Amino acid sequence: MVQTAKILVVEDDLHIRRLLRTTMQRAGHAVVEAADARQAVSLLDIEQPDVVLLDLGLPDRDGLELIGPIRRRSTAIIIVVSARDDSSEKVTALDLGADDYVTKPFDTDELLARIRTALRHRRTAAAGDDVTVVEAGSVRIDLEHRRVSKDGLDVHLTPKEYAVLAELARRPDRVLSHTQLLKSVWGPAHVERVEYLRIAVRGLRQKLEADPTQPKLIINELAVGYRLRA
Ligand code: CA
Repeated sequence: MVQTAKILVVEDDLHIRRLLRTTMQRAGHAVVEAADARQAVSLLDIEQPDVVLLDLGLPDRDGLELIGPIRRRSTAIIIVVSARDDSSEKVTALDLGADDYVTKPFDTDELLARIRTALRHRRTAAAGDDVTVVEAGSVRIDLEHRRVSKDGLDVHLTPKEYAVLAELARRPDRVLSHTQLLKSVWGPAHVERVEYLRIAVRGLRQKLEADPTQPKLIINELAVGYRLRA
């Protein structure tokens, strides 16, 4: 089933805005458009979109400054569409509460897929049926019983490995920043210790990936974080 949504496109570049509008409408989504931050904020209240596609380079404000206010007044999925391929900015966007990001020039199919994924997770969460089992390739993660198996065989993980995997599995197909993962697994005092995370991910890959040097399950988002492909 195709799930359609109301999408607020926040983008000052007319060509990109049109491209986004056409792409979204072809996929059956309804589109409202804002050319600057001020318009975006007022449309947010009036239109109550399900998804906000947010450009960061806006004429009146930095798009990053909009993420907090959007989060506070709406439950919309926020996907940052940025021209700046700057990993620290992506990290900031995620830590401020963005759900995902794509970098321009973006692939429209990829963007639509990200939106579908986000909407699907949102719907599952809204239905209240907590996802307790996540499947990723031949790996099965049972969050309720804290059990992980590969090809039907139990895999023994260290407590930290399990905690990292569980965090990723609770939000499959979404990037979690290093900070988010470190904060929830090791605690706020350890958000700088990226090496802890690297060691845990290396262990997970060795135990779960078919080829740990070519990870297909736990995907590295360069200098940003990790994503579990479910
Ligand atoms: Ca722009």
